[in-house]
Formats: sequence, C-alpha cells, structure tokens
Amino acid sequence: MEFRFSPLSELRRALDSGMVSVEELAQDYLAALKNEPFGASLAVAPELTLKQARYCQNLLEKTPPDQRSPLLGLPVIHKDVFVTTGWPTTAGSKILENYQSPFNAQAVDQLESAGMVCLGKANCDEFAMGSTNEHSAYKPARNPWDTRRIPGGSSGGSAVAVAAGLAPAATGTDTGGSIRQPAAMCGITGIKPTYGRVSRWGLVAYASSLDQAGPMARTAQDCAWMLSAMAGFDPKDSTSLNEPSEDFARLLGKPMTDAASTEQPLRGLRLGMPSQYFSNQISPAVAKALEAALQVLRGLGAETLEVDLPRTELSLPAYYVIAPAEASSNLSRFDGVRYGHRSEKATDLESLYCLSRTEAFGPEVRRRILLGSYVLSHGYYDAYYLQAQKVRRLVAMDFDRAFEHCDFIVGPVSPVTAWRLGDSPALEAAKDTPLLAEYLSDVFTLGASLSGLPAMSMPCGFESTAGGHRLPVGLQLIGPRFEEAKMLALADHFQLATNFHEQTPDFSGAQS
Ligand code: GLN
Repeated sequence: MEFRFSPLSELRRALDSGMVSVEELAQDYLAALKNEPFGASLAVAPELTLKQARYCQNLLEKTPPDQRSPLLGLPVIHKDVFVTTGWPTTAGSKILENYQSPFNAQAVDQLESAGMVCLGKANCDEFAMGSTNEHSAYKPARNPWDTRRIPGGSSGGSAVAVAAGLAPAATGTDTGGSIRQPAAMCGITGIKPTYGRVSRWGLVAYASSLDQAGPMARTAQDCAWMLSAMAGFDPKDSTSLNEPSEDFARLLGKPMTDAASTEQPLRGLRLGMPSQYFSNQISPAVAKALEAALQVLRGLGAETLEVDLPRTELSLPAYYVIAPAEASSNLSRFDGVRYGHRSEKATDLESLYCLSRTEAFGPEVRRRILLGSYVLSHGYYDAYYLQAQKVRRLVAMDFDRAFEHCDFIVGPVSPVTAWRLGDSPALEAAKDTPLLAEYLSDVFTLGASLSGLPAMSMPCGFESTAGGHRLPVGLQLIGPRFEEAKMLALADHFQLATNFHEQTPDFSGAQS
C-alpha cells in the first residue's frame, strides 16, 4: 500500500490531485487493520467507514480545493474512551463490553464535521489507567518496533496504529501522560493541549480535573490540523475553555521570534532544561538521544538554559492520590443498573452492585478505586487528598516560575524506552516493586498534567537493542497555557531539520 506511512499532509495532496479516492484510502487502511498482529484495534465496522468515506468523497468533488477542510477525507482511529454511535465503546474494560453509545463524543463529532473518516476504535488500558496497554481487559497492544515490547499507554492502540501504518492519525487522551508516553515509545508525534481546550463531553471519564484529549499523528503539522478541528468551547463540558477557535497551524514554518532568520528560525527562543529532568533517573540511551536533539535545536538558533522544577518528584504522590480519588467517584456510575455488565448471580440490590463491579473491573481499576475511596474517606481526606491538592498547586507554581526564564521546557517523556511485555521499567528507585516502577516512569509527564499545561512528544532518536531492534525516544516540550500553536511550530522546525519522524519500523516478520 503506497500511502501507508504518509503523513496527513501528503494524503491531502494525494486526495486533491485525484491520485487516490477517499474510499480507496479508507479501504487500504481497513485492509491493514483487518489482520494486524499488534492488538491495536478493538472494533472496526468497514461498512460504516466506507459509508463515511463515500460521503466525504462526494463532498470533496463538490468543494473547490481551496475551500476544503485540510482534513476532508482523511482517516482517523479513535481511542476507545471516546464514545461513538457506530462503533461499540468499551474503554478497554469488560464492564462496558459491547456498549453502544447513543451519541458521539464532541471531539469525534468535530473531527467528523471537518471531514475525517472513522476507521474504528483503538485499544487502550482499562479506563485509561496505565502506562503499558497491558491493563486492557481485551488484549495487550504490541510495539511495532519490537513486538515483544509494550507500546506505552494508556493510548497504546492509537500510537501503534499510527506507527504501524494502520491509520494515518489517531485520537488519544492524556490524564498523566497517556498521549505523550505511547507517542514517544512508538516514534510518533502527539500533543496534550492545555486543560480545557478540547471538550471532555463523551470521553469515558478517568480523572476529570486532568483528562484532556488530543491528536496523535506522524508530524507536528498533522497534529496542528487535527487540534484545530478538535478544540473549541463546548457548553456541555463545564471546564471547557471559553476561547475563540484557533488555527493551530498558523505559525508553522514562520520564524519564531523577531531575532529569528531563515537559517536560524529558533534564534531568540529560550528552552529551559529542568535539572530534575536531566538527572541520572534517565537511561543513558535516552540521555544521548536528548542531547543530540538539543544540539539540533541549538543549531536552529535556540538558547538552552537550566531551569528548576524542584517539586518534580512530588508530582508522583500528588497524582497517584488525586487521579484515583477522582476515578473512584467517576467509576461509581458503573453499577450494573443502567448500562454495562450486570452480574447474573445477584440476589438483591447490594449484591448486584458488588458482584457486577467485582466481576467486570480489572485488577488495576479495582486497585485504584480502593485507593481513591481510601484517600477520600473520613479521617484520611485531609491527610491525603487535601494535601495532594496543595502539592498540585506547588507543582504548578514551579512551572510558572520556570516560564519566567524560558519560552518552553524541554526534557524526556519517559526515563526509558519501551520495555518488554510482562516486565517493568528498569528504574533504580523501584527495583523490587514492579507496579511502583510503572507509576514512577510517569515522573516527567505528570507535572504538565497537574498544572494543566500543553505538552507534546516528538521523535528525537533511537536506542539500538542487543536484539537488533531500534526503539524510539521521544522529546517532550512543555509550554505555557494556550501556547500550543507556538509549540507545534517549534516541533515543526525540528521535524524540518530531522528525519526521526519519517522512520518506520520493519515488522515484516511480525505474526498475529
Ligand atoms: N500512567 C498514568 C496512569 O496510569 C497516566 C494515564 C493517563 O494519562 N491516562 O494514571
């Protein structure tokens, strides 16, 4: 298939020139999804996809090229926490097996209005809880760069679909790193916008004060196009930002400051390197790739300086108190009464609740509900939940202070590259506690989440393994609130100067 690894911008040209039709394009990706050996998707419905494709082809033929939405006719796969009317929505959980939503998530609707064709639903950790996709109740997803390894999570299926050329773009959600970390581990680009940018209406809620949806694609430009369609005020989401809609691609290719030139488009831009992010916590391979990427950014004119985020480590306990607390409340709606799994062994109302939930929630979800209920309970609320909220504030203040000295923060996404399925990240601090190690590996993504800041991951190098595989490394950019357009322009300049984002995995030997 000719276009399998093409970015959206290239597919746009192919559609506009008539080289391929919307339907042919959709068919090619559906064929790739059909027998994929990576566990990337949870649901496809070819008839529905092709119906949308025919509609878009028709629209395309009726619309002059300069009036077409840049996304018209381009395929997308949605993380299975976005509710969709055509495809079942499970959130990776047995409790929602075969659940059919009566409405679409707002972001899904907006992408559809912009002309995107839905290919289906992507695998994810159950209720987006996890960093490996192994917590999916259905199947793990596999990293196309080495199928014995995790793709990252929780938006693992989305990242795999894009990296393996099963879809040119995907949606994801990021509560504590779930767009950025799988994007990093699979060698693609993904952005978590400022909290409130994209409507949460129709997202299966995990931790509402942190949940944010965003695009995952091959390039910063592709993400900019998608974000422009996904973002916008939505009165149905009480924390939606009341901001005018924006073209997030408007700064692409432009010099970034007054001091900038064509050769040095980043001249005058200050990039902060938090000393806590460039510590011995990151693996030598990640450190090496980051250093090389920073050299590229310096070559483009950017100035790098050290900044301080002293509360970085505290974001871990704060997040792992706040997120489970909110989850325990959000997940109380799954009671076997209105929707989802209902136990057949129940004899009265209480046993209906109890058995339905026990039978159908996976171990990680149960753990977090228990943890969340505990930290919210009488006598512990002040000691844990309230304390965590205070720490959250302090973490956010660290960022505010850092942005007094720099325009963007650069750093790692994950301390290590993708680890083996069934394994846990090799972190010194959690040698004998594998579950804790998974949590600790979120240390560099949680800060931006707790602070509501926009943050993204883009490919910046590879680690070569003894087994002969190349494992992608991601570079994280964190920006001040509302600075997505500028951040995407910065990433685009980096991608114009490098080709990490153009690399594709060699998975000819992968078996289903
Ligand atoms: N890994 C983090 C968690 O398990 C983040 C997940 C997410 O962003 N959805 O909660």
